[in-house]
Amino acid sequence: MPKFFIKTYGCQMNERDSEQVAHSLIARGYQRVGHEAEADVVLLNTCSVRDMADQKALGKMGMLGRMAKERPHVVFGFLGCMAQTRGESLLKNLSHVDLVVGTQKFHRVADYVEELVARKTARPATITAPGYSRMDDPRFSIVDVAEEIGSQSTIRDQQIAALQATAFVSIMQGCNMHCTFCIVPQTRGAERSRSIDEIVREVRDLVAHGVKEITLLGQIVNLYGRHEFPKRDNKSPFVQLLETVHEIDGLERLRFTSPHPIGFRDDLINALSRLPKLAEHVHLPLQSGSNKILKAMHRAYTAEKYVDLVRRIRQVHNGIAITTDIIVGFPGETESDYKLTRDLVEQIQFDNAFIFRYSPRRDTPAAKIPEQVEESVKEERNQDLLRIVNESARRAGERLIGRAVEILCEGPSKTNSARLMGRTRGNKIVVFEGDRKLIGEILDVRVQKANGFSLYGTPVLATSRDPNGDRVRHRTDSLWRT
Ligand code: SF4
Repeated sequence: MPKFFIKTYGCQMNERDSEQVAHSLIARGYQRVGHEAEADVVLLNTCSVRDMADQKALGKMGMLGRMAKERPHVVFGFLGCMAQTRGESLLKNLSHVDLVVGTQKFHRVADYVEELVARKTARPATITAPGYSRMDDPRFSIVDVAEEIGSQSTIRDQQIAALQATAFVSIMQGCNMHCTFCIVPQTRGAERSRSIDEIVREVRDLVAHGVKEITLLGQIVNLYGRHEFPKRDNKSPFVQLLETVHEIDGLERLRFTSPHPIGFRDDLINALSRLPKLAEHVHLPLQSGSNKILKAMHRAYTAEKYVDLVRRIRQVHNGIAITTDIIVGFPGETESDYKLTRDLVEQIQFDNAFIFRYSPRRDTPAAKIPEQVEESVKEERNQDLLRIVNESARRAGERLIGRAVEILCEGPSKTNSARLMGRTRGNKIVVFEGDRKLIGEILDVRVQKANGFSLYGTPVLATSRDPNGDRVRHRTDSLWRT
C-alpha cells in the first residue's frame, strides 16, 4: 500500500483542499503518514498570499531533493496557489519535482499521483522528473466551477469523516474583489458558488458520519451565491444557505469564514442572533484603520463603517468574539496611518488578530507602488500591534475564568498529548484533562486559568442524545455509564 504525506501552507481553504486530496488518495488504498521520510508520495499544498509562504514551500521542496536521490521512487508534487502562479518554472528549477497542480485541479491529483507512482515504481532507475511530469497550466485550467467543486465534494472518505468532530465545507471559489495586495483572484479565479442543495447534501453526509461542527468556507463567504441565486424575503443567498444548513438534524455548531465587511448586512447580523447553532464568533478582516490605506488596498469600506459594523454585531450578540486580519507596512503607510490602525485596534478590543507585515506579491498592483515601507519599520509596527492584541486577547480569556463554557472536544492537545483540547463557541482553545472518550463530545468545562490564547479548565458536564434524540447533560464521569 503506497504511503503519502501532505504538508499544508496557508489558509483554511488550503486545509480543506488538502483534506480532499487525502481522502481521494485514501479511497484508492493509499495510507496517510505523518512524516515525509516514510512516504512514497510527498505533496506540498502551497500558499501565495505572502512571499514568506512561497519561500517556505520552495525551501522545503529544495531540502527534499536529497531524499529524492536516496529514494528515487518517491513522487514529489506541488499543489495549490504557488503551483498555480509559478507553474512550469517549478519543474524547471527543481529537477526532482514530478507534479505541479494548480487550484482548479485538486480533483485530478489522485489520478496523476497514481500514474506517477505506477511509472516510477516500474522503472525507478530511469526516472528523470520532467519526462514524467504532469503540468496543469493555470492560465488554461480554470474549468466549469459547479462541476469542479461538486466533483471535489464527492470524494470524502467516510471512515475519516467518522473520526473527526469538525469539518470544513467549501461553498464557493474565487474572488472578484481585487484587493491590491492579493493574488487570490489570479490563483483562484472569479467568484462562483455551489448550489444550496449540493452543500446541504455534503453537510448531511458529514453529520451522518459523526461530524458535529461545520465551517462553511469561501474567500468572501458572505457574498456566496450573489451571481447565481436571487435574494428571498430580503435575505441574501448566504443567509438562506445558513438557514437551510442550520435545519440539519444532528449538526450542533455552524461557523463561517471569512466574511468581508462589504456585504455584511442586517440580514446576516440578525441571523447571528436568530440561529442558535451559529457559533458566537466572527472573523472580520480589517486590514487597516486608515481610510487612505484602505482605499489604496481597494477595500471598499472606511474605518468608521467597520467600527459601526462591529458595534451592530455586538449589539445583537453581547459577548460575541470578534477576530481580524491586519496588514502593517502597506506601501505608503505613514506613521500617522499606522497610528489610526493602532487606535482602532485599541478601541475595538479584538479577541484575537492575525497581523501580517506587508510583503509584495508578484503581479499585484501594490507591489508596484513606489513608496514601499522599510522592513525595520514594518517589524516595529508588527511588534507594537502584537502587544496590543495580546493584551486584549488576554483580557478576553480572563473574562471567562470561573465560568463553565461549552466546548467541542477535538482531540489531544498539540502541546501536551496527555491532555485534551476543544474549542468554545467563541473559538477559544481550552485545554483540560479528561478521558479520551470525550473526543468528539460537546461538554462544559469550567475555566480556571487563561494563558496567552489558551484557556485551561476542568470538565463539568457533557451532553449526549437520549433515545428520543433530545440533548441531555451528564456529569462527565458518568457519560459512559448512561
Ligand atoms: S477579498 Fe481581497 S484579500 Fe480577500 S481574497 Fe478577495 S482579493 Fe484577496
